[in-house]
Formats: sequence, C-alpha cells, structure tokens
Amino acid sequence: GYLLEVRDLVVRYGAATAVDGVSFALSPGETLALDGPSGCGKSTTALAVLQLRRPDAGEVLFEGRELTALSERELRPLRRRVQPVFQDPYGSLSPRHRIRDTVAEPLKVQGRWNPDTGPAKVTELLERVGLDPSYAARRPHELSGGQCQRVGIARALASEPRLLVLDEPVSALDPSVRAGVLNLLADLRDELGLGYLFICHDRAVVRHFADRVIEMRDGRITS
Ligand code: ADP
Ligand code: ADP
Repeated sequence: GYLLEVRDLVVRYGAATAVDGVSFALSPGETLALDGPSGCGKSTTALAVLQLRRPDAGEVLFEGRELTALSERELRPLRRRVQPVFQDPYGSLSPRHRIRDTVAEPLKVQGRWNPDTGPAKVTELLERVGLDPSYAARRPHELSGGQCQRVGIARALASEPRLLVLDEPVSALDPSVRAGVLNLLADLRDELGLGYLFICHDRAVVRHFADRVIEMRDGRITS
C-alpha cells in the first residue's frame, strides 16, 4: 500500500485558491519532489499533508487512513509518523532551549521520556545526524545554519517518523554545507526506509535526489 495518498486536494486562503485539485501518491521509501515557481502551492500542499492546515476539499491518506476525517485527538498518534523539516534552520528551533531539550521534546510530549535512558537516546540522535554530543548543552545561536538543520532532523527522528515532509531543507544553508545535509538525508532514507515529500526548486538537487518529480503551477499539477 501507499505511505501517502493525496486526492483532489483543495486549499484556499480566503477567496484565493492556493491548491486546486492536486493528487499524488508516495510509496514507503520513495522520494517525491514538488517543484514549480514561487507561489504555485508547494508549501501549502506540504502544510495540508502535515495537517497543519486543514484542506477545504479532498483527502489526505497516511498508511491508508484518511486524516482529514479525524479529530485532533485521533490525529495525534499519526502526526508522530509524519514529521516536518522546514527551510529556516534557526526559525524552526526554539531560540532559548538547549539542543538537548529540543531533541527530547517530542519524547516528552508523546509520553515516551524515560529519565534513565532519555539522555543516551538524545546523544544517539545527535550522533546519528552527525553532531558531536557536546552540542547538547548549546542553544541554536551557538550553532551554524547547517548544524541547526541537523538538530531539526534529529528532533524529527525522535518521533520515529515514516514520512518526512521537507520544505526547502537546504535552500537557506550556505552552499558549502548543503551537500552534507543532503547526504545525511539520503543515508537516513536508505537506512530507515523513510518516505520523503521533498519541496525543492533546485533542479540539480531534485534530479540527484528524487525518484519522481511533480511540477506545479498555479495550484495544479502540470506534469
Ligand atoms: P509555494 O510554496 O509554491 O511558493 P505557497 O503554497 O506558499 O506556494 O503559496 C501558494 C499561494 O498561496 C500563493 O499565491 C501565496 O501567495 C498564497 N499564500 C500562501 N500562504 C498564504 C497565507 N498564509 N495567507 C494568504 N495567502 C497565502
Ligand atoms: P554553515 O554554513 O556553517 O552551516 P551558515 O552559513 O548558515 O552556517 O552560517 C554561518 C555562520 O553565521 C554560522 O556560524 C552561524 O552561527 C551564523 N548565522 C547564520 N545565520 C544566522 C542566523 N539567522 N542567526 C544567527 N546566526 C546565524
């Protein structure tokens, strides 16, 4: 079965239709890229998949379950399996929290925090994304953009996701560190069998990284 199915998705902002009848499906372990000009509805599609914006019409199915039909309470265990990584490495981390608290937060919120084993789990997650465990005590402003993006990926992994929704995850990074973060994402995908919905407008990256590419324009799929 599919990991993710989007059927006839429609999302409006007031009178403006940002996503206008988009359909696609993604298999476990597959990377599907969304490409297209600024404003064509890529991010809005991502927000709808994450259920951070409820669609006006259409369906979003995760592992065959229709998310749009569920209440917030029913969504909670499924949300864990669909994790976002956003573009702004600093903006997506809480500036006042130490890195270890940011990575531990999903475990605590989800009732999975064990004081005996939690700290080692955080260390393991930081090492998994290529960060020295000594970074645990730092705050975001003490890290580079690339390092912050790795923290964001570690936090996503803490939830044990099946699908990552990556909205321009390397676009805000220094070009010299983009390849390192992309290689990390490729390793995680291969090791953990994660599916990726990957928003990216860098053709070279898309071609290298994605199994399939969907082109959008004015809220619709063009190819
Ligand atoms: P993309 O990610 O492809 O750049 P978006 O999904 O961000 O496109 O935007 C699609 C359309 O929706 C654009 O016309 C944009 O201006 C509009 N839009 C996006 N977010 C909002 C918002 N919060 N309020 C109103 N309009 C928005
Ligand atoms: P890198 O390429 O090393 O991953 P960046 O090129 O994003 O990191 O940033 C270079 C330096 O500028 C880093 O040391 C980082 O601390 C700092 N920096 C970049 N963006 C920000 C920001 N939005 N807020 C604070 N510091 C920043």
